[in-house]
Amino acid sequence: MRRIPRLLLDMDDVLADFIGGVCDLYGVTYRQAVAEWTPGAWGLWRPVALAAGRPELTEGDFWASLDRKEGFWAGLEPLPWFKEMVRLADEEADEWIILSAGTWCPSSRAGKEAWCRRHLGWDRREVHERLCTFPQKHMFATRGTVLVDDKESAVVKFIIEGGNGIVFPRHHNGLHRHQADPLGHVCEILGRKPGAVH
Ligand SMILES: [Mg+2]
Repeated sequence: MRRIPRLLLDMDDVLADFIGGVCDLYGVTYRQAVAEWTPGAWGLWRPVALAAGRPELTEGDFWASLDRKEGFWAGLEPLPWFKEMVRLADEEADEWIILSAGTWCPSSRAGKEAWCRRHLGWDRREVHERLCTFPQKHMFATRGTVLVDDKESAVVKFIIEGGNGIVFPRHHNGLHRHQADPLGHVCEILGRKPGAVH
């Protein structure tokens, strides 16, 4: 028996650089977006809109703009710790899948499928079996299941429903003080040395 029976990995801002993709789309740098963004505050659309000089942008317009941009979801870059995170999942979990909220637009699901084929080398069958796009993550909560997610509210809800959760530290959640080494934080919680092969 390994440490984690079932592991659910969030995708955006845990594996894939969603913020970076949004910044590129709006022609701003991450530094410019962060200048408008209170550490620990969830939701990037407002800081990006302000950084881009588009204060009139609504949240609905923002999400629609991502879905309209051809190749947006498929084109997100893997985050620097992506490979190590996958290695950790392979080594620490009996089973793991990606659980991503995505958006209602089919381009989101299709783009995420393409991303998994490209960056994880998954074939269509693996994508079908291991990529779950569904926003109600708490419905997967069971004893022995761990959710790793940068959205604190999703992790809290998951734990309340009987699962286990780890908040993945980023600028926009309460663990932002660990954002320079988010994977190190996960390893610490799991009692694993960063980079160690178990
Ligand atoms: Mg996320």
